[in-house]
Amino acid sequence: MSYPTPDPFRATDAVFLPNPKQDFLLLLRGKIASTRGATLMLMAWVLSSWTLINGSLTVVAQEANARRTVDGPRCNLPWVEEWLDSNIPSLVADYWWLHENPEVSFEEVETAAYVAKAWEAAGLEVTKNVGGHGVVGVLANGSGPTIMLRTDLDALPVTEATGLPRASTKKIVTASGVSTGVMHACGHDVHMTNLIGMARLFSAHRDQWKGTLVLIGQPAEERGGGAEAMLKDGLFTRFPRPDAVVALHCEASSVEQVAFRAGYMMANVDSVDIRVHGRGGHGAAPHTAIDPIVQASELVLSLQTSVSRELKPTEPAVITVGSIHAGTKHNIIGDYCDLQLTVRSYSPEVREQLIAAIRRKAKGIAMAYGAEEPTVTLSDGTPSLFNHEALTLQLKNRVSASIGPNYVQEAEQVMGGEDFSQYGIAGVPVCMYRLGVIDAGRLAAMKKRGQTMSLHSPEFYPDIDRALPMAVRSMAVCAVELFASPPPKK
Ligand SMILES: [Zn+2]
Ligand SMILES: [Zn+2]
Repeated sequence: MSYPTPDPFRATDAVFLPNPKQDFLLLLRGKIASTRGATLMLMAWVLSSWTLINGSLTVVAQEANARRTVDGPRCNLPWVEEWLDSNIPSLVADYWWLHENPEVSFEEVETAAYVAKAWEAAGLEVTKNVGGHGVVGVLANGSGPTIMLRTDLDALPVTEATGLPRASTKKIVTASGVSTGVMHACGHDVHMTNLIGMARLFSAHRDQWKGTLVLIGQPAEERGGGAEAMLKDGLFTRFPRPDAVVALHCEASSVEQVAFRAGYMMANVDSVDIRVHGRGGHGAAPHTAIDPIVQASELVLSLQTSVSRELKPTEPAVITVGSIHAGTKHNIIGDYCDLQLTVRSYSPEVREQLIAAIRRKAKGIAMAYGAEEPTVTLSDGTPSLFNHEALTLQLKNRVSASIGPNYVQEAEQVMGGEDFSQYGIAGVPVCMYRLGVIDAGRLAAMKKRGQTMSLHSPEFYPDIDRALPMAVRSMAVCAVELFASPPPKK
């Protein structure tokens, strides 16, 4: 047994963490440079002699409620900042409920119900079960553009290892029989809380905008398919068709920074399964068999040159063989070898080129070994995310002008996938921007230790006190901008 390792940059107010010797670790949190901070230090001093005998004492000083510090970000919409000042604590409470109750893709029952209830309470007309567990909330407020904001609902089969007192303790057994924890390791709990905030904010301030606000809670982003399912279930026909769809996604970078990128931002994701055929035999008599493992090994290496030798060097692409399985025993040559690949690209042309190269090489190597032609199966992937260029530049400029250029970055292209792309493919201008959520000090400390933080990590957690206001602030600025100047209709 070991102590949960608390991160010095985010701890709770006061928690007792038991340890095997029946003593405890006491964590205290207070503001730096405040009377509470001074009290904390005094308490620490008084307690220290006692705890030296009876337990261990850790004092964690944290700059609480950092958004109220003088130099924190502000936008130029006073009604948004005033709303944030009085509503962030209750929104943080929503965040913790969502964080402690994660549900994996296609199982977002309680999550969808929670979001639906919160939107209903804010005055939205809510429809549930759109494309599975999808939720749609409509707030009509006179004539004007229709702006859609999207959150995803699902969590991941990851066992949380943040050591936070309110870490998820949920466990499931997956369809493949694996027992695992469940965690919002991709920050979708932040996205949902943000849209609960948007519902309350825009409902309370109908004098500040005109048009129709549509909020959507999309299931199954992590597995892909949620966006497509909602579209197939009439998202753009049963509900007001949007003039633009905007979403944000958490990023494991400095909190209070947002990042935009026009054009391609995330990749086409294709899954390819290959079965390389051989002919089984005795390991001591390879001349009587056709060895599928040797063939597969050659294929794995050869596939790497499809990217490095066949594509234009300026075209981003990845072929990764993530799984390879064959054989049963040391001295048996098996009949086949199975490979599982993930293939990433941006443009449809490069995607086609890579898939053609995979088929050609698999077939060519089999031929060289005198083996049967391999079976190559392609699963439906996620199309690449192309942020509408004019819309993205408009929002980037507006957020920069409203909150300040110091808070706005150019987002990097990544080879991850995101089915938010489906709304764009369905013919509506889309923009997804990134929201940095990690305390800069924590990132710097990790860097010093030679570590990095990423989404999907069991140690991922946002600095929610600062990430959430920035999420609401930046998205409110985007929505207000679009209600005033929507993208031109096609
Ligand atoms: Zn994710
Ligand atoms: Zn995600």
